[in-house]
Amino acid sequence: MLSLPDPAMRLLILDDQADVGQVIALAARSATCEARATTNADAFFQTLDAWSPTHLVIDLVMPDMDGVEVVRRLAERGCRARIIIASGVGSRILDSARRLAIEHNLDFAGVLAKPFTPRALRALLIDVPQAVPFDPLTIAVTASELQLALTRHELQVYYQPKVHCSGGQLAGFEALLRWHHPIAGTILPDRFIPVAESSGLIRPITDLVVEQSFAWLARSFADADWSISVNLSPLVLNDLGLADRLLARSRQHAIDPKRLIFEATETSAMDQSINSLDVLTRLRLNGFQVSIDDFGTGYSSMAQLVRMPFSEMKIDKSFVMSALQSSESRAIIEATVALGHSLGLCVTAEGVEDAATLEYLRMIGCDLAQGYYLARAIPGNEVGAWITGYRSRLAAAVGSPVLPGIGARLSAV
Ligand code: C2E
Ligand code: CA
Ligand code: CA
Repeated sequence: MLSLPDPAMRLLILDDQADVGQVIALAARSATCEARATTNADAFFQTLDAWSPTHLVIDLVMPDMDGVEVVRRLAERGCRARIIIASGVGSRILDSARRLAIEHNLDFAGVLAKPFTPRALRALLIDVPQAVPFDPLTIAVTASELQLALTRHELQVYYQPKVHCSGGQLAGFEALLRWHHPIAGTILPDRFIPVAESSGLIRPITDLVVEQSFAWLARSFADADWSISVNLSPLVLNDLGLADRLLARSRQHAIDPKRLIFEATETSAMDQSINSLDVLTRLRLNGFQVSIDDFGTGYSSMAQLVRMPFSEMKIDKSFVMSALQSSESRAIIEATVALGHSLGLCVTAEGVEDAATLEYLRMIGCDLAQGYYLARAIPGNEVGAWITGYRSRLAAAVGSPVLPGIGARLSAV
């Protein structure tokens, strides 16, 4: 049985369609909640100040002001009311508005998808915050949380192996960041790198990745020639002092620069507004390798590509993961391998999830493979055990389809 809401609840509605606002108000009153509807932002903010509502329903799409702007203004005023976002727009837009409300530390009750039922509105109105199951994915990733994560050493570099398509030998690792949040558990970089980029924290974070991964490589594999790939964000690529700092770090750890690969996405590397060409060229001149990441997803022209000092191309995983099903993906992969080779570059396919894809890549002459079929990104202290296991997988694969095409050509890993 639903419990009735507190009659002291006051609901203020902002919806440019007066009839929709009235329907919401009616449904709210039937839940013994006081309700007022407004149809424009001025009236809404005036009523907000005069009436101090406990709950708000905000339409996301309005002609004079969009709901996202309203959410921002509510945050600036330190609004404490519980917010319900109402809209008929697609779930992705609703989802980002929801995240925006959370980012701004607003008290977010949920989304009322239009057309709504009175029951759905009632459920949102009487829902006490504690009754909402805690979803670790929705914790607010803010710059201050990220700054704390740095101070508390919650950011850890994981390593994903890259192997030769032909022969299977280990070639190196990509350094991929993980955030071990004390409440939310492991947070993946797609959620916090954008915050790091917009807050300027990407510089100290890149320094941390460089320091951790160089130290790990020097400590664990000083005598091997396996490489480490580090991702560089566009902001970092704009820093003209980067090449010198990286050179100093590699000397400090006595790592040959040719074992160090720096990955830039196609879009950021080609961005004329930043100093990327200058920085990437300096890195190459200092003996480092430079890789073009997520190739196939950006908009570079052939002329730009030839001009950039790359040593490796990484085919975006979206093509690799669909290679067996899509002839378009295979066309892109094969064209990229041919283009890369004609420019003298090493071509890596990422997102290799099964044996058949690996075999296909070997057949078309792709150089390196990276993907869940070989390994996910793992902590540095587990890499030794992975190498042992991988060696026995390779040995067992001779004449069997476990790692087709690879076991037979196995030389030392
Ligand atoms: P990316 O550079 O394209 O990295 C490859 C991503 O693909 C990684 O996700 C990796 O775990 C995932 N991946 C690898 N193999 C497979 C596979 O077989 N299947 C599938 N489904 N996925 C696979 P991750 O670690 O979540 O990283 C996401 C992105 O975050 C990276 O994309 C990179 O752009 C960024 N990132 C990660 N670490 C750093 C960092 O230290 N600095 C910067 N600037 N960006 C980073
Ligand atoms: Ca990468
Ligand atoms: Ca990539």
